[in-house]
Amino acid sequence: MNYSDSARIKAILLNCWFSYTENLSNADIVIFDTCSVRQKSEDKITGKLKEISPKQKIWITWCMIQHNLRNSKISKNSKLKIWNFMWSLQSTTPKIIWITTQEINNLPDKILQNWNIVGINHSFNPLFHTLTQKRKNIELFFRIDDVWFLPLILPRIWYKINYSSEILNEYDKIIPQWINTSMNKHNSTAYVPISTWCSQFCAYCIVPYARWLEKNFPVEQIIKEATLHIQKWAKEIVLLWQIVNKHPDFIQIIKEVCKIQWLQRLRYTSPYPTYYSKELLELHQSQPKLCPHIHIPLQSGSDQILKKMFRWYTSQQFKNFIEKIHDLSRPISITTDIIVWFPWETDQDFQKTLDLVQYAQFDMIYMWIYSTRPGTIAQRKYPDNIPYKVKHSRWAKLNNLLKQISLENNQKEIWSIKTVMINEIPEQWNITWYTDNMKQIILSNPLNKNFKKWDILKTVITNWKIFKLYWEIL
Ligand code: SF4
Repeated sequence: MNYSDSARIKAILLNCWFSYTENLSNADIVIFDTCSVRQKSEDKITGKLKEISPKQKIWITWCMIQHNLRNSKISKNSKLKIWNFMWSLQSTTPKIIWITTQEINNLPDKILQNWNIVGINHSFNPLFHTLTQKRKNIELFFRIDDVWFLPLILPRIWYKINYSSEILNEYDKIIPQWINTSMNKHNSTAYVPISTWCSQFCAYCIVPYARWLEKNFPVEQIIKEATLHIQKWAKEIVLLWQIVNKHPDFIQIIKEVCKIQWLQRLRYTSPYPTYYSKELLELHQSQPKLCPHIHIPLQSGSDQILKKMFRWYTSQQFKNFIEKIHDLSRPISITTDIIVWFPWETDQDFQKTLDLVQYAQFDMIYMWIYSTRPGTIAQRKYPDNIPYKVKHSRWAKLNNLLKQISLENNQKEIWSIKTVMINEIPEQWNITWYTDNMKQIILSNPLNKNFKKWDILKTVITNWKIFKLYWEIL
């Protein structure tokens, strides 16, 4: 999602005659496209801010500012809500004005009556206040939804800009490829959002608070964006959304994207177990471009923990789903997410998770040690009172089981034929690529370099290790 959003920010700013640099020290402005899913992500941003020279300006967007704003006392003042440009707007053609801190306390009535005016002042956001005490070069906070307002906001913070109004449109209608922006450094994979936000409200998750409620993009727009990416440079499309298979036209989207000429691979992430249809599973069998890999978040194998997490499936339903994947004639690699030690998870609960992992034979598990996120249901209802050390020992147990399964699964891949996309020709030959079933793969014989960037190669698996396969060109 962050890749895709960053491409949109880049598109808007290139349209305003800013130029883009990968080289941090060359930048006049550094933009942080933040994530709040875990506390660690926020800590990373705070750490990274220290690396920015005081001469460089800093802009910050996305989750970190949005959930901080939502939790602030100021945002609870209804009178101010409509004046903060970080809130959803009533109009798509607003006039942007600067509101001084003094005016915030005494907003003139004539402004209050005009819903077409958006006032901006960073002091609305408590995070801005706190951070600017330490870093005076923080210049702008903006909601990602408001990225298309940047051409209107920037003159208010002293930038002289020109822009073509063609790209000035609502967030979900910005198509980065209009001006050839790509955030994938290999120029091989394009991330295409099909909806935004999430209304699922899992008890531990900050996303619905940071990103707010669901909005589906129309099929025509998704296909247009995917086609433009493929025509420009991409080989692989990844369809994105937090609950990607909940889009009402998801099957149609998959079928239409698969028809795009020159598309080599199609992936999607992340689906929700109960929104899987039989038809979607069958597409994995019938559409060769749709990769033989399903990432399906389990979170816990215990029904009582799933219930506390507000995940609307049982462990048995999840098992049935896994069984259907195993029954497909095309072998599908399965990966998952698991939260280790959700509050009140007992040893018995954890054992149920281990049992389900053993049953599902996941190729990879993204394991998250539970951390409380502000404003979530879990934070309000379940105290997180387990010491980190204890959580970590459970994490280690799960990790050992995963390693054992990975070794067994990879062993079964020996002499099988896989396709590998060469998205980069490395200078050093220890780099890994990914197979179509999303396994890390390393070239067995570094002397055999008979291929070039963007080739899709048929390969044979010659060796295996935990989490890794080794290959030769066929
Ligand atoms: S489905 Fe649940 S875990 Fe995923 S983004 Fe939505 S609320 Fe968060």
